[in-house]
Amino acid sequence: MMSVDPTQVIRADIRAMMAYPVQHAEGMVKLDAMENPHRLPQWLREEIAGVIQGAEINRYPDPDAPELKKSLREVMKVPDCCDLILGNGSDEIIAMLINTVAGPETVIMAIAPTFVMFKISTVIARAKYVGVSVEEDFSLNADQVIAAMQEHRPAILFIAYPNNPTGNLFDEHVIQRIIGHAPGMVVIDEAYHVFAGRSFMSRLPDFPHLVVMRTLSKLGLAGLRLGYAAARPEWIHEIDKVRGPYNVGVLTQLVAQKILDHHRVLEEQAQEIVAERSRLEDALHSMRGIKAFPSSANFVLLRVPDAQKVYTGLKERGVLVRSLHGAHPLLDRCLRFTVGTREENDLLLEAFGKTLAALG
Ligand SMILES: *Cc1c(COP(=O)(O)O)cnc(C)c1O
Repeated sequence: MMSVDPTQVIRADIRAMMAYPVQHAEGMVKLDAMENPHRLPQWLREEIAGVIQGAEINRYPDPDAPELKKSLREVMKVPDCCDLILGNGSDEIIAMLINTVAGPETVIMAIAPTFVMFKISTVIARAKYVGVSVEEDFSLNADQVIAAMQEHRPAILFIAYPNNPTGNLFDEHVIQRIIGHAPGMVVIDEAYHVFAGRSFMSRLPDFPHLVVMRTLSKLGLAGLRLGYAAARPEWIHEIDKVRGPYNVGVLTQLVAQKILDHHRVLEEQAQEIVAERSRLEDALHSMRGIKAFPSSANFVLLRVPDAQKVYTGLKERGVLVRSLHGAHPLLDRCLRFTVGTREENDLLLEAFGKTLAALG
């Protein structure tokens, strides 16, 4: 039989890519992926079991998911001017948005540093990626972004609000100015909106080229894989053409809908996480050698004396965080950790204390 070497057929740019890094976390306090640490209450898990029991998984899912969209519209206060598109996580929506515009000359722009999937999906779609850096304090400079847009004419500008991995919310007036000057779609990625209490959802009527994208992942349903984006029908109509027709499965649709009927449960968990976030921030401010950046999300970015040593020290003590050192010049010596349960956070603080003490 003829043997075929993957390098003969796989694109060189794909071969040069690194797969999205997922760390091995068994037995660790897992604070690396911005998951909600709380499980659903037993009564709700039982209701979900009932829903799953009745699910017709012999059938394809409804590609329009009208019931689920109706629930999302109500719970998430989607304005009447806009339609929704659903994705297998917002990761899929990012890819769909890019695929609707991508060509060899198309520029996709994002604020840097930011969520890596904007770049990964751009590279896969063979478009050009341009990152516009934030200021040293992680704020957005409107003039700089506007100048970059004038130079590169991006078909899409992605702004994560709050931003990941920096955790801050950009000034909303700065974002408004940027939207006003954008030559293409502006996608506000609100993966962390519940922890920030700020949103551009209600501003959709003001900006016809605005897309507000969200996910249920950080809210507590990372395993379910459901993202959604709201925009004017004329945009959604086109984006829908690059969507796989059955991209959101029967179980995801049913379970998400059931949980949305009880969305208070998730919001209460989010409030608990926000309270823990400030407790952690206070505790970290008193530790010497650490700078904790202000966060509006469910994670905190820190600058430490030596990212590799602190990362390893935490890991040896059973706590898994993410090192961002080397990912961008502004992330020098930075680590990011997710806010966990009270017990997990205490373990984190203890591990930090011991690790820093060992550094001397
Ligand atoms: C985690 C994250 C996402 C991806 O969310 P999924 O819905 O789980 O795919 C998108 N954007 C940002 C900024 C994120 O941090």
